[in-house]
Amino acid sequence: MSDCIFCRIVRGEIPSKKIYEDEEIFAFHDINPIAPVHFMIVPKVHVGSLMDVDPSHQKALGHILLKANELARGQGLNEGFRTIINTGRIGHQEVYHLHVHILGGPEPLGSMLKRRAP
Ligand code: 5GP
Ligand code: ZN
Repeated sequence: MSDCIFCRIVRGEIPSKKIYEDEEIFAFHDINPIAPVHFMIVPKVHVGSLMDVDPSHQKALGHILLKANELARGQGLNEGFRTIINTGRIGHQEVYHLHVHILGGPEPLGSMLKRRAP
């Protein structure tokens, strides 16, 4: 059994503010939100990052993207939202269980990354 933190959240061993779950995916609010609405959707099966996916993950990953709009609307994000998947060291990934961040709120979120000074 994986002691990965998101695997433990999926199994209910660590409490979370759950939004949705079915046989393949689990969605819950981020513990340290960086937008008025900030939640994550994860595959229930452990996969470390987008650098570790293989064809066996295709269905769950497609399912996450197909569910994103419905779950975002359920949180009041009717005019759009941002999806982020941080991957690996360069992507500043902190938790190595693949997760899709969904971010939004009443106001536009601003540009995706700050431009570096020339
Ligand atoms: P990453 O940088 O890996 O894309 O994002 C990991 C996210 O997981 C962070 O936004 C962080 O706040 C969130 N996080 C870390 N530990 C926990 C936890 O125990 N519960 C919840 N709900 N979120 C967590
Ligand atoms: Zn995991």
